[in-house]
Amino acid sequence: KTFKDLGIVDPLVEACHKLGYKHPTPIQAESIPLALQDRDLIGLAETGSGKTAAFVLPILQALLEKSSPSPFFGLILAPTRELAAQIGQAVDGLGASIAIKCAVIVGGLDMVPQAIALSKKPHIVVATPGRLLDHLEKTKGFKLSNTKYLVIDEADRLLDMDFGPILDKLLKFLPRERRTFLFSATMSSKVESLQRASLRDPLRVSI
Ligand code: AMP
Repeated sequence: KTFKDLGIVDPLVEACHKLGYKHPTPIQAESIPLALQDRDLIGLAETGSGKTAAFVLPILQALLEKSSPSPFFGLILAPTRELAAQIGQAVDGLGASIAIKCAVIVGGLDMVPQAIALSKKPHIVVATPGRLLDHLEKTKGFKLSNTKYLVIDEADRLLDMDFGPILDKLLKFLPRERRTFLFSATMSSKVESLQRASLRDPLRVSI
């Protein structure tokens, strides 16, 4: 199978080829067609499986389909600064030729440059939960009320790191009318309850 077979449009197929992605990985082949059909997804997949592109490509494709791409269209939550930075690089790489703006918002760095980055209204925000909540509470003009896609990446690690209560608060800032993709290496009762709180009628994909 090719990315085109999965329903990915030409500009994004080219972006994949530029990054050396010739054929979809198994998690990409499973998830992308379902994500493009506008369904919530639970993906059971580990780091290294290609899960990042599995959720980034459908969001970029949805942005391309809009006549005027809206700010804060996609929000991607990750447990660590390192992972958020890696996801940001994947968004920049895949979105380079289609003029997609992305901001990475993580703890441990000064809030002011991040607030400036958010004031530029990026299409996609990649964030760790605590710092994102800080900005929602303190940064003027930053809202997630028009966000159409939420990704919860490495949900098991997020919950192991006790981000559960912060995730509950973050969900209140997001509209109900949205798509949600939850990725996790393992399923646990905590992941199940986060899933019930955040996804609607999800399909499961695993590799
Ligand atoms: P991930 O699991 O998303 O962290 O991706 C693991 C690595 O695989 C990253 O270095 C990606 O750039 C790479 N990758 C993702 N999708 C593909 C693909 N379809 N073909 C080749 N490499 C890929």
